[in-house]
Amino acid sequence: MPYQSILEKIHAEIVPTLPQGRVADYIPQLAHVDPHKFGMAVCDTSGGIACVGDAAERFSIQSISKVFTLTLAMQLEGERLWQRVGREPSGTSFNSLVQLEYEQGIPRNPFINAGALVITDMVLSHLGEAKLALRELARKLSGGVDVCYNPAVAASEAGRGYRNAALANFLKSFDNLRNEPADVLDAYFHHCALSMSCTELARAFLYLASHGQHAGTALITPSQAKYINSLMLTCGTYDAVGDFAYRVGLPGKSGVGGGIVAVMPGLFSVCVWAPGLNASGNSLAGTRALERFSELTGQSIF
Ligand code: GLU
Repeated sequence: MPYQSILEKIHAEIVPTLPQGRVADYIPQLAHVDPHKFGMAVCDTSGGIACVGDAAERFSIQSISKVFTLTLAMQLEGERLWQRVGREPSGTSFNSLVQLEYEQGIPRNPFINAGALVITDMVLSHLGEAKLALRELARKLSGGVDVCYNPAVAASEAGRGYRNAALANFLKSFDNLRNEPADVLDAYFHHCALSMSCTELARAFLYLASHGQHAGTALITPSQAKYINSLMLTCGTYDAVGDFAYRVGLPGKSGVGGGIVAVMPGLFSVCVWAPGLNASGNSLAGTRALERFSELTGQSIF
């Protein structure tokens, strides 16, 4: 498949639309990102990579990190994980408090903030050093030996993290955090503040296109890779998950930094970055680019 020429075509089409999105500003550090950035990278299961635009520039991966955290928790907890978090789409915003109250402190899924806080708590309980563990996983999977957290982004989010602090305290009140809310929040804010590029993320997500295999060894089981892909399809792109599945037809995970990673099991992983978001919090141009990618390649899971 001529991925390189397809990416170049998409790049030319998308660039004029970049100013239409709105960069996230509720995390002050993210408000400074240039809305004209656009990068895209595709990695196929044999390791070949095609990329375009700002694909080598690192950005704040934000909620894309929730896939890595879930991967660690699956390794550590297996199916027990589902006693403390659900696996249904939430139908509410990613940082909603209301639903958590109704549902007695069991978050709907691991990709809304409340669910990610519970997952982070599990990793903390097992490993103590959840920040180090996640950074090491991101380095190993991406091949980016110097992948690291952006401390300014983590601090910026912590400074304004009232809603996430409310969620963590709420979870604790329902006995669904084992560690102190402050420790869970610190790890969570750092996870969101990982900086990675499109090429690094496309490489890093290849295990989900390869039935859980990374560099010839099993990172997770084929069933666990299926579970994570299914969760991305049903819960990975906020409240617009139906629209994303309709248009793109691939499991994907987005973040408010403007990145989206999508996976075609057996074939490739693809990452796009365009910081301007749509009303649902997904990258506006990024969603469109992935939609064009599935049209032009004729590839989707359906
Ligand atoms: N760190 C962000 C928050 O908790 C992540 C949001 C996202 O990318 O969905 O608000």
